[in-house]
Amino acid sequence: KNDELPSQNEGHELAARFYHHVLMNTEQGKQAYDYLEARGVTAELMERFQLGFSPDQPEVLKGLLDKRGFDFDQMNEQGLLYRTESTGELRDRFRNRIMFPIRDLRGRTVGFGGRTLGGAEPKYLNSPDSPLFHKNELLYGFDVARKAVRRENAAVLFEGYADVIAAHKAGVDNGMASLGTSLTDRQAQIIRRNTERIIICYDGDNAGQDAAWRAGEVLEKQGLNVEAAMLPAQTDPDDYIQMYGPDRFQKEIIEMALPFMSFKMQALKKDKNLQDEGDKLRYIEEVLKEMTALSRAVERDFYLRQVADEFSLSLDALKQEQYRIFKEQG
Ligand code: ATP
Ligand code: MN
Ligand code: MN
Ligand code: MN
Repeated sequence: KNDELPSQNEGHELAARFYHHVLMNTEQGKQAYDYLEARGVTAELMERFQLGFSPDQPEVLKGLLDKRGFDFDQMNEQGLLYRTESTGELRDRFRNRIMFPIRDLRGRTVGFGGRTLGGAEPKYLNSPDSPLFHKNELLYGFDVARKAVRRENAAVLFEGYADVIAAHKAGVDNGMASLGTSLTDRQAQIIRRNTERIIICYDGDNAGQDAAWRAGEVLEKQGLNVEAAMLPAQTDPDDYIQMYGPDRFQKEIIEMALPFMSFKMQALKKDKNLQDEGDKLRYIEEVLKEMTALSRAVERDFYLRQVADEFSLSLDALKQEQYRIFKEQG
């Protein structure tokens, strides 16, 4: 096969084993180990996700790759090394970072996410796209979650690597995350091939909630039944599990996830004062607009009745209004 060479991932397998060894067994990795442990990541989880640590040295992985006869240009292309701007020398890309190996569905390591330990920017450094690593069609944790996804016919989508791991520990083992970018059609297709139902569980901040809205639309487009979990404003799933424990995470967050339409209704209410007549009308118009996207008449009827009840309006008036909006949208 023509693409055999660039898609070889032995360099990444070696790097993952090396970083993992540093984290688990060396003095150099101790600070990272303690950090992870303090965040509730057990040794067992470090094993399952093959977490690692990249030492704070410019050429330690490079030396190892050299010893094993790897081609530097290829390792550069695959992003394990990079060229310095000043001298053009090859260096290790990841330094002083906690390493999250990113694996494809078959479990082959094809990239890394590296979290800073010392506060360096950016907080997360990901492998660049290459013939080996296509971040638009990979999902962090899917290889570990796949069996559970099939078993439960449901997947949970998180924002962060740390959330996937914390949730796994909390018994939510069907979790995965996109790789620091908006969810793509490709990723949604891959999820759809493995399950019909997805629960979005993004961070509770505004950025997370906006991203959840966008992800939900991408997922619905691929035919998934979408639900969205709501987190307290300043927390992410990992924080929540740390603060309130696995039980409450399962019962009060995952199991309380709302159908996507209800999630959108809640979100639309957030920046409005529904005692205010103008806000109220705006809310109703926005909700009706979202409802036109519902494919099933029964569903449309259900939410229409809900709005009618909530605001003491006639179904007839709402239907007329919806028809007007529908025509406007063309
Ligand atoms: P932590 O709990 O370790 O601080 P987090 O997962 O809560 O991490 P967020 O800031 O919520 O971090 O970001 C969510 C995800 O977005 C990260 O897991 C990472 O995949 C991605 N991400 C965050 N910051 C960056 C960045 N600067 N560059 C690329 N990806 C990023
Ligand atoms: Mn976030
Ligand atoms: Mn977060
Ligand atoms: Mn976090």
